[in-house]
Amino acid sequence: MLVIEGREIEVIDIHVHPPDTLMDPVPPGFNSVEEELLGRMDEAGVDKVALLAFDIDKNEVVKNQDLFYKPVRYVTHLGGGTFGSILIEVIAWFDRVFRSEEDIYKYVQRDPNRIIGFGSINPRRPEEEIKEKLRKIKKYGFKGIKMIPTFQFCNPTDETLKPVYEYAQKEKLVILTHTGCDPGLWEYPDFCEDARPIHLAKVAEEYPHLNIVGAHLGSYSAEKPGIWFEEMMQVVESHDNIYTDISAVDTMLVERAVERLGSDKILYGSDYPVVLTYCDRKTGMLTHLNNVLKMDISLNDKEKILGKNAKKILNL
Ligand SMILES: [Zn+2]
Repeated sequence: MLVIEGREIEVIDIHVHPPDTLMDPVPPGFNSVEEELLGRMDEAGVDKVALLAFDIDKNEVVKNQDLFYKPVRYVTHLGGGTFGSILIEVIAWFDRVFRSEEDIYKYVQRDPNRIIGFGSINPRRPEEEIKEKLRKIKKYGFKGIKMIPTFQFCNPTDETLKPVYEYAQKEKLVILTHTGCDPGLWEYPDFCEDARPIHLAKVAEEYPHLNIVGAHLGSYSAEKPGIWFEEMMQVVESHDNIYTDISAVDTMLVERAVERLGSDKILYGSDYPVVLTYCDRKTGMLTHLNNVLKMDISLNDKEKILGKNAKKILNL
């Protein structure tokens, strides 16, 4: 536990992904990825992390090729490649970043007090598969469900998600949904539209006891950082059950968010180790936490953002 000005501060990172071991094997000094994650947490002073499954399906890319013509033209302007080569890259990437509930459970078993599992629901999967997933999420003792509208080609208000939200509300599972754009083709405006914070408002109204976290302050975008910051502020402000996390955004935006909303509904997240230059696998966790500790906000605000708020919504 961190000690700041004599006060013990618990740090809970609500937004962590397992590393990509195909591209980057286990580094020297660690015997396994599970051990590495716990080691990085120790180095940084992070007490607990929410580790997220990631259910995306490369077949959706194959099936929806037509959707890609405009975005590919959009990125080839930026020096991308041919339509075919870009699509092959996307398909390979989908395969690499997919993470099952079993993958996450391996980490959780290593230290269930410090690694909190989140499953992932892909609304495009058949109904039976989704039900089976929900059973697994319960069996493994996970605390939440990760969704990523951009790569899942699906809007959070989609009808197929109703049973998922009902179940999550009943079982007190947190819904963590990506908001903002995503790298590469997903900077194309049509491709990130489903990840606008405004869609979460409808869900929050229909399920008033469901806690929803819109990730990245609605701001994630390489080309237009802060893209839906204002929209996120509005939905958090007007809905008791909508929260936001600060993963993968500039701390200046976090300071603005605290000024605007106070600190009760903002959660610490890093997106470790996804965003290479911003939160790398080796030092990212430490650097990110240090940047947040340096922010120009009160210690009370930091304490809430770093752990207190997450503790509350995760029922820890
Ligand atoms: Zn993420």
